[in-house]
Amino acid sequence: MATETEAAIERPFDAEVGRLLDLVVHSLYSDREIFLRELVANAADAIDRRRFLALSDEALALPAEAAIRIRADHGARTITIADDGIGMTAEDLASHLGTIARSGTRAFTDALAEARPEDRPTLIGQFGVGFYSAFMVAEKVEVISRRAGTTGANAWVSDGRGGGYRITHAEREAAGTDVILHLKADATEYLDGHRLETIIRKWADHVAVPISIERDGKLVKANEGAALWRRPKSEIKEEEYADFYRHLGHLFDSPWATIHWRAEGTVDFAALLFIPGHNPFQATETDRDSHVRLHVRRMFITDSAKMLPSWLRFVEGVVDTEDLPLNVSREMLQSTPVLGRIRKALVNRVLAELKSRSKDETYKEFCAQFGAVLKEGIYDDVDHRNEIASLVRFSSTASDAGTSFDDYIERMKPGQDAIYYLTGEDPAQLAASPLLEGVRAHGFEVLLLADSIDFFWPERLGEYREKKLVHVAQASDLFEAKPVPADMEQLIKSVKEILGDTVSDVRVSFRLTDSPAVLTPGSNAPDLAMQRLMRRAGRQVFASAPVLEINPGHALVERMVKRGESGQSLDDVARLLFDLARIQEGEPPVDTARFVRSLAAYLVV
Ligand code: ADP
Ligand code: MG
Repeated sequence: MATETEAAIERPFDAEVGRLLDLVVHSLYSDREIFLRELVANAADAIDRRRFLALSDEALALPAEAAIRIRADHGARTITIADDGIGMTAEDLASHLGTIARSGTRAFTDALAEARPEDRPTLIGQFGVGFYSAFMVAEKVEVISRRAGTTGANAWVSDGRGGGYRITHAEREAAGTDVILHLKADATEYLDGHRLETIIRKWADHVAVPISIERDGKLVKANEGAALWRRPKSEIKEEEYADFYRHLGHLFDSPWATIHWRAEGTVDFAALLFIPGHNPFQATETDRDSHVRLHVRRMFITDSAKMLPSWLRFVEGVVDTEDLPLNVSREMLQSTPVLGRIRKALVNRVLAELKSRSKDETYKEFCAQFGAVLKEGIYDDVDHRNEIASLVRFSSTASDAGTSFDDYIERMKPGQDAIYYLTGEDPAQLAASPLLEGVRAHGFEVLLLADSIDFFWPERLGEYREKKLVHVAQASDLFEAKPVPADMEQLIKSVKEILGDTVSDVRVSFRLTDSPAVLTPGSNAPDLAMQRLMRRAGRQVFASAPVLEINPGHALVERMVKRGESGQSLDDVARLLFDLARIQEGEPPVDTARFVRSLAAYLVV
């Protein structure tokens, strides 16, 4: 404990520290448990420094069991964080704990001062302010420290207020530092050993130095210190990777891909990423953010730094960098070039992995699980659009689910200059769509796109390897517009009259071979399947009524012409024709009872 001597130093805090402490003390905290992360990080840094300096000075050698020990004293209402690190001299205490030396901290305090007062607590709570975080939970902080290689110790004490701090001589058996927090009355929850352990597990589980917590007079180890990503790849067994993957994502299967590497150069980081074996997410998933964890020197910082774009949100893993301060602010998370570089490297690495695995037997399964998410990137990400397009796989009229754009182009017929596709909700229904008939008659393959995102990206992509993407409903240039026979014209007029507002037009179509009729969207209206999807999602759809296209070569239509000419009513059969086209689209007849009646009547004629 500190002892009074005449050599005591009493000093006010540096102006910046004073300002910071004021913010810390006068704010309410959302996540004040991070004080422990900050103090443990400092302790681990001090041990690392001592280990490093001992390389050139034996007198500084670390004790065999160098560790961080956390002890709660219920009677005194204190917690002590003790370490065997390098320690501080009286001058160190004054300069390190009395001024803000680190530029990271200074930038942080600036951001903090500029933030709206109501935003400050979360800023401090989430990202910490280094050593001064201690004052979030403590009304008084004592630091007793003995610099390695020296004999005397010193105590620094402060209440974090206007009074500044006081440094006196003290005793400490060995080199290292004790940080003693005299807890505020509203922070006694931190006296609970279990609570402390939970906090350590969350933030500091991967710190390399052993951290123990005293419980019932015994020290219990509270961290694993594994940081698998920091170990060389060659030493890690597949099972260790799989265990870590399961632990990370709360998953039970094995990863489909494990991507582990170290980047050195403009930015230093280690990354360990996994592509899951199956998609654990719910269909109703609303969280589109990547939750790849960001660590700074093994210490967990956040899993909401959006380390990967949302179209790679299924990737799990950890990134750990040396190049950021622990107390990185939220602004920094968004704007620091270091993170920008890391994010870029991660995306490129994942895309490279997908490319190299794209010939694998299992790639199709990967696409079935995550293809729909990946395709969001074609829509969202201008920079990677073409690369993603080359990686996604489709069903088509010529092949099962494993077709790529490149495969398609390879199979294109002479004279074909576009990539045709059809969008809808159900692959089987798409394969039976009348819209395919005409394109098929040309012998052209059509991609069958049945994910909801497929309604959006093809138009954005526009073309692939200079081949235009064309929706089959828009492929009218494939069909010669023959002159409409006079008898057909009369029929069209009658049908239009009968159907009224339920259609925006009735037309003769030359794209149909087998079906009597087909519905296509009215002008400027979205895909009919998409309209349905939107309606089902409870959204209002402002779209013109569909167009009914009828096939002049179909026997039913020919019969309608005759019926019309002989003066018989077309009322029932026109509605029947419209309903058949609706059913083909996956929609019920307009009036089911009437449909059944007139179909039955028609069948017995
Ligand atoms: P940072 O860790 O970002 O430098 P802090 O506010 O957390 O900022 O700590 C300020 C400084 O105080 C550290 O850089 C270090 O020099 C010193 N320090 C804090 N805790 C310890 C400790 N346990 N042992 C040795 N030095 C320490
Ligand atoms: Mg620190």
